[in-house]
Formats: sequence, structure tokens, C-alpha cells
Amino acid sequence: MSTAIINISSLVTNDPSLGHGPLGLIRDAAVVVDGDRIAWIGENSKAPATDNAVDAEGRAGIPGFVDSHSHLVFAGDRTAEFNARMSGQSYSAGGIRTTVAATRAATDEELEANLLRYLREALRQGTTTFETKSGYGLTTHDEARALRIAAAHTDEVTYLGAHVVAPEFADDPEGYVALVTGEMLDACAPHARWVDVFCEKGAFDGDQARAVLTAGMRHGLVPRVHANQLGHGPGVQLAVEVGAASADHCTHLTDADVDALANSDTVATLLPGAEFSTRAQWPNARRLLDAGATVALSTDCNPGSSFTSSMPFCVALAVRDMGMTPDEAVWSATAGGAAALRRADIGRLTPGARADLALLDAPSHVHLAYRPGVPLVSAVWRRGLREL
Ligand SMILES: [Zn+2]
Repeated sequence: MSTAIINISSLVTNDPSLGHGPLGLIRDAAVVVDGDRIAWIGENSKAPATDNAVDAEGRAGIPGFVDSHSHLVFAGDRTAEFNARMSGQSYSAGGIRTTVAATRAATDEELEANLLRYLREALRQGTTTFETKSGYGLTTHDEARALRIAAAHTDEVTYLGAHVVAPEFADDPEGYVALVTGEMLDACAPHARWVDVFCEKGAFDGDQARAVLTAGMRHGLVPRVHANQLGHGPGVQLAVEVGAASADHCTHLTDADVDALANSDTVATLLPGAEFSTRAQWPNARRLLDAGATVALSTDCNPGSSFTSSMPFCVALAVRDMGMTPDEAVWSATAGGAAALRRADIGRLTPGARADLALLDAPSHVHLAYRPGVPLVSAVWRRGLREL
């Protein structure tokens, strides 16, 4: 059963061979979806005959957003902490422990219902792929169940037992690292694709982070790193050293950090929702792009430091405050996220790619930044199925 989506005013393909510029932009475009894949893409006037047609009526089209960094297996709420912070107090990594207590107390059903609620919310804003992490359980049982629940809803599951030292190990951080790299890893690795660590003052130092990542790699997990969010530190260099798919946050970078990213396959994933929600200094996307680094944008959706599931919001922030052009921001939120997840089948609209795309109530993708806060996503196909 093939379906043509016709009369798309401008379509971002992220395949330069299909259209203009780095976004491979096609004017007056059509897309043919067959099963869960893109079967054909090109000018509207040349679209082949199909079983069904959907008229986009001049809307713009983009690949579905690829949100490559989120923390969605959690319970509870941190409204009071946010309110206090916006009233003048500073953010520290310890607030995570509030969510840990609530998450441990929740049932599997409560955690899954919460996850599904935020996935639906993200889908309504055009997200068709998301990565999500454990990290609010911090016991072998609670980390493994978080990953099991996540794995029922996405292929991109990340073991983050090393989010923060568990409260039971407050006086014995090395003992906690031994648990994260030992029994907990054994229980978690079968449910995850990735291993991650929060390498930051107040969380894990460079040596502890290296131990977590290399242990995960020995179990077949691929590394990614929470790096250089709150200050300068060893996270970015470590990410490059171990061949991580992504160094995430990258807010405080030395010239050597920027060079290391630019000369590696490690994607710099920027998470402007975190800086927005903590009133912190913005990451400098322009500096990374000018150096030649690959940049992804993601929400970091979590109840503490970035409680947004909106990729359009992140695109708008990146354009307004991080020096990105609208084209660069849209690329980073789609193809950039796919690169951060080492996926070639998503983040672009090209024959054979997964049929994940969104239509915008706008004539151009530029409106994602030009009309911030406006719910522009009007239709979403995921794996070839119309979901919105
Ligand atoms: Zn994060």
C-alpha cells in the first residue's frame, strides 16, 4: 500500500543530492511512502501513481526530529526546585536525588505511563525517534527495570547508572563505581545499546568516568558522555579518547576541546533547554560549526534541568542564542541527532530511509525559529504510519 504526500511547498530532505544546499531542499515536492520506508521523493509534478494521496496543501515538510538525549523514565516532579532556582538559587547536580527517591517508589506501570505521556507529547511536536536513559534508579534492580521499560518503546536505550552517586554510597563513591561497572552493568547491558556517564564536578571525575565507559564497552555498549555542562572538565576529551558517539552539553569548552571534537567522529550534542531552564551560559554552536565539528540538538528532557520535550523550542533557542542559522538548527535537530545515534536510516528523507516525517503549518522550515512557541507541527508519519 503506497501513499503519496503531495503539494509540499518546501521539503527538507537532508540529502544534498536531492535538492538545494546542505538541506537538500526541494520546492513543490512530493513524497511516496511504501510500508515503513520512503519509496520515492522529488518534484510534485513528477510523482508516480500511488494507491492513496494526502494533500499537504502547501505546507512545509521536514524529516521527523531525532531527539538523541532524554531522561524519560522517572516519577515525581521538581516544580518547587525550578521555582526556587528562578527565584535566585543556583542549580547543582544533587537535585537528581529527589527524582531518584520518587522513581524508586513508583510501580513499573506508573513509570511506563509517565514515559508514554512524554512520548506522545514529543510526537505532537514532530519527534519520531528518541533516545532515553536510566539514571534515576541507581540500584541494580531499579536501573535494569528502567532500561527494560524504555526498551519496549525505543531502540535507543542508554545505561546511565553513573548519573550521580547513589545516596547509599555518599561516603563511598568508589564503591558505587564498582557497582556500576560490575553487578549493575551485568544486569543492565542486555537492555541497552549505549553507556553514558555524567562527568562533572559533583558527579563523576575523569578517571571514574573512563572506568564506567570502558566497562560498558567491554559489555558491547557504545559510549556517549555528559560532558562540560557546568564547567570546564575532562568529559569532552574523554569522549573523543574512547570514540564516543556523542559528547553532550559541551557548554564550557577550551580551544583544545573544540579541536578534539572537530577532528573526531564524536558529535557535539547541544541541549539548550538545560541552559534555558537553569539560566546558564549558552553553548556556542557557532564556534563548533566554524571549527568543523558535527553538531546535534536535543531536548535533554528531564524533570530537573530541562523539562521540555519540544525540539522546535530547541531549534528556536539555538538560532536566537547559540549562533546557528535556521538551516543549521533544523539539520542538527534531524540529521545531527541521527549522527549522534550513528543511524543512517533516520534524520533524512531519501529513498530507502525510514518514513518518518512531519508537516508544518508554515511555508518553510525557517518558521520553526521565526515563529517560536507556536505549535506548527500539523501532521506526523512514523515508520510510514500517520500518527498525527
Ligand atoms: Zn542529560
